[in-house]
Amino acid sequence: MSILSVVIPAYNEGAMLHKTANVVSTILEENNIDYEIVFVNDGSKDNTWEEIEIASKANPKVKGICFSRNFGKEGAVFAGLEFAHGDCCAVMDCDLQHPPETLVEMYKLWKQGFQVVEGVKATRGKESAIHKLFAKTFYKIISDATKIDMSRASDFKLLDRQVVDAFIALPERQVFFRALSSWVGFKTTYVEFDVQEREAGVSKWSFKSLFKYAINNITSFTVAPMQIVTGCGMFLFVFSIIFGIFSLVKYFSGKSLEGFTTVILLLLIIGSILMMSLGVIGFYISKIYEEVKMRPRYIVAKTTDDNNEK
Ligand code: UDP
Ligand code: MG
Repeated sequence: MSILSVVIPAYNEGAMLHKTANVVSTILEENNIDYEIVFVNDGSKDNTWEEIEIASKANPKVKGICFSRNFGKEGAVFAGLEFAHGDCCAVMDCDLQHPPETLVEMYKLWKQGFQVVEGVKATRGKESAIHKLFAKTFYKIISDATKIDMSRASDFKLLDRQVVDAFIALPERQVFFRALSSWVGFKTTYVEFDVQEREAGVSKWSFKSLFKYAINNITSFTVAPMQIVTGCGMFLFVFSIIFGIFSLVKYFSGKSLEGFTTVILLLLIIGSILMMSLGVIGFYISKIYEEVKMRPRYIVAKTTDDNNEK
């Protein structure tokens, strides 16, 4: 019988862990699906790890990896997928915002031969207007770059072993799971789900961290910002030629050139475009810098297997 591994990244989810482990295992058992649950404790500051150990003792199918510090969700998902042994692996959030019942649906689709089952958000859940606007812009850029509609994409997916192996073989340090799992290809289908309310704990995303996430993923997926900057430069060049000819004609026809304001304005516009371009180039250089350092994506401090061996 094939095994389904459920990878769950957890950061300060002590309040949710017990419930999540129970709900997921009950649903899978009820549907006669052989499973393992891999919790990845992403350097939580609360009792998440203790809760994982308790859950693992109560049910040996629950396993845990503990990072040495917080490495971020992407690293945690990656670690979970590397650790998982299943014939297919699902990734879901620890806060039950991804309904566990959908796992059964995903598993059935996998049985039918689909290698990637993407959870797409039927509704986006509660978000502020500004959050929605930023999310929309971000996904528009990413969708253009990947040629995949990402507007309703989520991290809730099920991947076949072959896809997992392709994903964990990717050499880049900064793995953007949501887009890369589509990028690797394979036979894909979609399941809609409604984003649930978070039951306990708080969302780890602040505006600042979301902004950083967006910049990071845009720069790792597309060079569109560079192209925009080049476009601006070309536009300004054409404009300056026309303006230059116009000024020269004016000069030679004996009219005096006035326009201190124009000069200041032009200087400011050109100056700020130059600065922005440098910033954009800077983002890409920092990306290269991060990648060439080749630091590990995460560091494991301990796993629940360690306890069994001792
Ligand atoms: N998470 C993580 N590391 C982090 C931040 C979040 O492993 O640094 C996990 C978190 O425990 C949860 C999932 O990623 O299981 C989604 O996080 P959250 O619910 O805060 O995000 P939201 O649902 O608000 O997008
Ligand atoms: Mg959440």
